[in-house]
Amino acid sequence: MSTFAQTLVETATAVAAFGADVSDFEALSDDRLLELATVIAAHERAFGLVKAQHAAQVARRSRREFGHSGLAARNGFASPQKFLQHVGNVTAREAGQLISLGSALGEAEAARELLDSGITEVGGAPVELPWDAPITGALASGLLSVAGADALRRGLGDPTEAITGRMLAELAERLIRECSELSPDRLLKAARVERELLDLDGIQAREQELYERGGVKLFPQTDGMLRLTGQIDPESAAILNTALDPFTSPRRGGPRFTRTEDIARAQAIIDDPRTTERLTLDGLLELVKRGSAADPATMQPAMRALVKIVSTVDTAEADINAGDPASDTGFGVIESNGELVSTASVQRALCDGDSVHVTVDSHGKPLDLGRTSRLFDRRQREALAVRDGGCLWPGCDRPPAFTEAHHTKQWKRDRGKTNIADGVLLCRFHHLQLHNNHWEITRRKTDYWLTPPRSVDPAQNPILLKSKSTLIEHLRRRAAS
Ligand SMILES: [Zn+2]
Ligand SMILES: [Zn+2]
Repeated sequence: MSTFAQTLVETATAVAAFGADVSDFEALSDDRLLELATVIAAHERAFGLVKAQHAAQVARRSRREFGHSGLAARNGFASPQKFLQHVGNVTAREAGQLISLGSALGEAEAARELLDSGITEVGGAPVELPWDAPITGALASGLLSVAGADALRRGLGDPTEAITGRMLAELAERLIRECSELSPDRLLKAARVERELLDLDGIQAREQELYERGGVKLFPQTDGMLRLTGQIDPESAAILNTALDPFTSPRRGGPRFTRTEDIARAQAIIDDPRTTERLTLDGLLELVKRGSAADPATMQPAMRALVKIVSTVDTAEADINAGDPASDTGFGVIESNGELVSTASVQRALCDGDSVHVTVDSHGKPLDLGRTSRLFDRRQREALAVRDGGCLWPGCDRPPAFTEAHHTKQWKRDRGKTNIADGVLLCRFHHLQLHNNHWEITRRKTDYWLTPPRSVDPAQNPILLKSKSTLIEHLRRRAAS
């Protein structure tokens, strides 16, 4: 039996060992139940490879040039996707994923066979491994699931003249090394952002394209309702979400409050009988009403910047009109959603006053604002938001507005000072998790490590916490290389 077939049988056997009846699963300890999740995932990855190979073969035998004698057509289906949907019982989307990944696997294998037998040219064209060979390789070795491999491929996009296949292949290898544990959605975003970092000059064009695609349509319905559809570009989305957050954030795991009136307000939102969707709509209307009531002639600018864009000083000060080489980083980051913006947008936001200045050193570490009071003040919180980019917990995607500051040296226990170096941002859920279940975060120089309790990891291996800010990770990586 091939090693692959062996893996498939072994993973299936491991799953089957858990039983199939309700009573079998009720009898499982918590630890065994968690173990089952890992076993199922391993089997899914192995099984996904079979499905991708099968789908690609069906597609190959259903090619257009076979016309009605193609496999899908002979069986009464207009396309291999339709065949897979009905016979293979998968969604249209999954059928598409399987076919394209399976075909990519086939191309990589064919190229590898030619190269292995010393053939480097076919019909005058050089034989090269396809750029996505690391991704299909990770799928074949069970490191990535079908959904994960698909997300990585789509997020990285196609090679262009400026972004070569080799660059994308290297990026794919790094992402597989560092991020293969991420959910497909987060993997897609991570890949997309990394691709943008390769093409800093392209950020402005992409920003413009998203801006132009933005728009909202209002459709009156026959029952008197108004249907609203459309899409909103990242910078506008950050403004809208920030303005609407106060209306619903206590419902969606927002940070806890310390002042009595804030606590009461948050509780009122939680207890409100309206749905969260209704609260969002009422919040939007509230903002519109307040906005229309203001006299445009005397309208004051908002007290608080709605969208925060973070950049290095070099980017903020780059002379783009003089054709300055897009400064040292050449991009900024929207704090609340992590999207990249161009140098031009950074400077426009600065001009509007919609920006926060936090000076970071070349390692991405904000300048120290050490103080002796117990709570982090607003400026320190802003510095933490810039540095951590959201909840630092591995895999968590809560933005800075949804986080609380945790002292790595506990104030009472360690007589901690409110030094930003000793603070990290965690969402409410993970902050409670840390304190209630005895996880610990410690600092070594500029790195933060999360140590699980013995009940989770008997060896208590510390996990390195990475900033969720693309800008900060970019600076750190550059400083390290
Ligand atoms: Zn804490
Ligand atoms: Zn979190």
